[in-house]
Amino acid sequence: MSVVLRENDWAASMIQANSLGKKPSETLRRVARFYMDTYNINQDAARKKLDLFLLQCDPTSSLPKWSDALDFAVSRACKYPAINIDHISVSKNEVEKIDSLEGKQIRRLAFTLLCLAKYWNIVTRKEDGWVNSKDNEIMSMANINTSIKRQSLMFGKLNELGMIQFSKKVDNTNVKVCFMEDGEEAIRVHDFRNLGYQYLMYHGEPYFTCENCGVTTKANDKGNRRRQKYCPECAAIIKMKQNIESVMRRRVSS
Ligand SMILES: [Zn+2]
Repeated sequence: MSVVLRENDWAASMIQANSLGKKPSETLRRVARFYMDTYNINQDAARKKLDLFLLQCDPTSSLPKWSDALDFAVSRACKYPAINIDHISVSKNEVEKIDSLEGKQIRRLAFTLLCLAKYWNIVTRKEDGWVNSKDNEIMSMANINTSIKRQSLMFGKLNELGMIQFSKKVDNTNVKVCFMEDGEEAIRVHDFRNLGYQYLMYHGEPYFTCENCGVTTKANDKGNRRRQKYCPECAAIIKMKQNIESVMRRRVSS
């Protein structure tokens, strides 16, 4: 499950955009929960609204084919309340510990694990520092693309330094983050996509946060000194909207 800090706001934006997103099962679950919370309706009523949402996203979709997926989404939505976290705060002391690590990738990994541990502390209300995310999701958030072997070496190093602990259960790949330390805030995280880039941006590297969708992306370097406002995806959508508007205006005026 990907990490979204304000699930109901996120679901509302998917409904407004008529979009199933990149992971339809996650979108359907969050949209179902949004309906329950917003309209104060039961499981059956939410299930009916989910049919409509699906058809709005894709009028050609077959409801019988999607039926099981929609049932599952509603049953999951009933079990878990929507997550609503404004931000995660990383302290200067924590950043210093991360900065002291040898190697850029391992720093991004440590930063990502720290943010996830803080997230899971809030979600599970346990304050125990355990990270319940899959390795591939962690690597993607950390913007690390490397072999499994190198990934285990990095985890091993963090363990050796006492910054993380592994679970004692054999079939459990979870890790516990042991370097949380309160203090003056250094970084405020509002979005868990591209945490690795957010760490690099804090250190002055050429990344920026999209004003439309909040994702942090690499700034394009084409000698273009103008400050970039939007990520490539949002820029394309905004440009298309502007083109449509200008065509409409010309039609009205001619
Ligand atoms: Zn964007």
